[in-house]
Amino acid sequence: MKKTAVVLVALLVALTAIGLPIWLAVREAGRQALVVETARAMEYARTVMYRSEATASQVATGIARLRKLHARAPCSSASIDEMRQIDLGSSYIQAIGHVRDGLLVCSSMAGDAMDFPLGQVDYRSAGGALFRTNVHFPFAPQRSFIVIEITDFAAIIHKDLPIDVAATEPDVSLAILSLEDDSAIASRGHVERRWLERLGTRREVAFADGGHIVAVVRSPLYMTAAVAAVPARYLEQRSRDLAMRLLPIGLIAGAALVVAILFLARQQMAIPAAIRWGLKRDEFFLEYQPVVALQSGKVCGAEALLRWRRAEGELVSPEIFVPVAEQNHLIVRLTRRVLELVVRDAGSFLSRNPDFHVGINVSPADFHASGLLDSLEAALRAMKAGPANLMLEITERGLLDPMVARETTGTLRRSGFAIAIDDFGTGYSSLSYLESLELDYLKIDRSFIEAIGTGAPTSQVVQHIIRMAEDLGLRMIAEGVESRAQAEFLRQRGVQYAQGWLFGKPMSFQELVRHIEQHGQAAATPLHATGGR
Ligand code: C2E
Ligand code: MG
Ligand code: MG
Repeated sequence: MKKTAVVLVALLVALTAIGLPIWLAVREAGRQALVVETARAMEYARTVMYRSEATASQVATGIARLRKLHARAPCSSASIDEMRQIDLGSSYIQAIGHVRDGLLVCSSMAGDAMDFPLGQVDYRSAGGALFRTNVHFPFAPQRSFIVIEITDFAAIIHKDLPIDVAATEPDVSLAILSLEDDSAIASRGHVERRWLERLGTRREVAFADGGHIVAVVRSPLYMTAAVAAVPARYLEQRSRDLAMRLLPIGLIAGAALVVAILFLARQQMAIPAAIRWGLKRDEFFLEYQPVVALQSGKVCGAEALLRWRRAEGELVSPEIFVPVAEQNHLIVRLTRRVLELVVRDAGSFLSRNPDFHVGINVSPADFHASGLLDSLEAALRAMKAGPANLMLEITERGLLDPMVARETTGTLRRSGFAIAIDDFGTGYSSLSYLESLELDYLKIDRSFIEAIGTGAPTSQVVQHIIRMAEDLGLRMIAEGVESRAQAEFLRQRGVQYAQGWLFGKPMSFQELVRHIEQHGQAAATPLHATGGR
């Protein structure tokens, strides 16, 4: 991934890390607020229902008692005494009296000294009770009362009594409505009749409707329902308050995520900076792995493998830092450093051994950069060596662009350098494409050597690769040879060269020189001179 892409992705992830917990906090706050406000509306509606049931029950009991004892003489002093007792003994009834032709003729309040017209009946229940819902009496002209008349007796109650529920929010709407004709027996605030429809056959229901959270509760005894509606702005307010409480948690979680992401991103970003630093501080060095001629077992060259020991002593694998260097335009500087190191390590040896080659790994970017040939020639001049002393190892990836591949391999070969195709078999180059390039060697990838004699499906592939190399007229170097059996197998099938732990692990150049002194050098068959077409 490119650096800018990494930064963009990190930024996006960081924004998500901050945004997501906040969004979740706000959403959760909204959800919790809705639960709380719905419960509150339901509580109000149940309280209203409870109070109206209690009122109705007191009214019914009081009137039943009067009818039983004083039906014949409803305004007798005994009856009026009874009325006063009922009045005193009930918490909801303001007064109780006798009605004749719409007139309150005697009552617990005024004895028999009145004939008060109660006005028209607003609502008649299925059970025969008559409701007047807005009656004003001379003793309290500003107040409105409900009069419930049952069989010539009437109870007077404060209009607000059933809905006189102590609500913390002043503008909560409360009502007790008749389910027979939707009329309001008592109500306060904004109440919509259509809310009753939502009840259906249920006992209670709660829902959000536009600007309100509404709860409706049905009476178990009468055809009435209690309604409570809490304005939605309380929900918003509660939601905001909750969000403010949850937000710090969301922010802390987001910040922790961002720190973790930045830490990881910084670590990734830190490698290129560390590579630059490592170049300055000379932290890179080379190890050389001997390449032998399979017929004689003698050393004919070596592959230079880059190593990075960081200041803290940690040894980093090229499999980690080479790809990072490739992505960050640092590989050309690393290749230049490899050449400098070859000059430093092997310069005098190569000038004395014109047939000995050192294989250098080059990356696709080296191919695109203009300075590769100049750097190679400068290295040769510094070593007083010839182009046969250096071989360039290029992976199939490095040959992806046919134009560049053809031009660069051509130029390098004309200058006398040998070119090997590295890790062969792991890419997708077609035979015809490879045929069109000027190459000298084919390095058979270690994975195919490993498979030799194992019976694995890939164990046959090595034979095809050998045939292909022969068809292309390329000489072969087998990589990763670890056993005698593998070496013998390859030798018998005409593979000329090999490298691997069987012949020697990567080592310092001084060790390599000692190794050559012990095992001998294949001087007669230089890698380069006889290879190619
Ligand atoms: P490569 O060029 O294919 O190098 C061969 C790898 O196989 C080396 O790993 C070597 O140590 C390992 N190897 C050799 N013989 C055996 C064996 O018998 N058994 C096993 N298991 N492994 C063996 P290393 O040094 O870790 O390098 C890995 C890769 O890093 C190289 O693969 C090459 O692609 C890249 N690399 C190394 N040095 C450089 C360099 O200077 N420049 C560039 N561009 N790439 C490099
Ligand atoms: Mg290589
Ligand atoms: Mg290889």
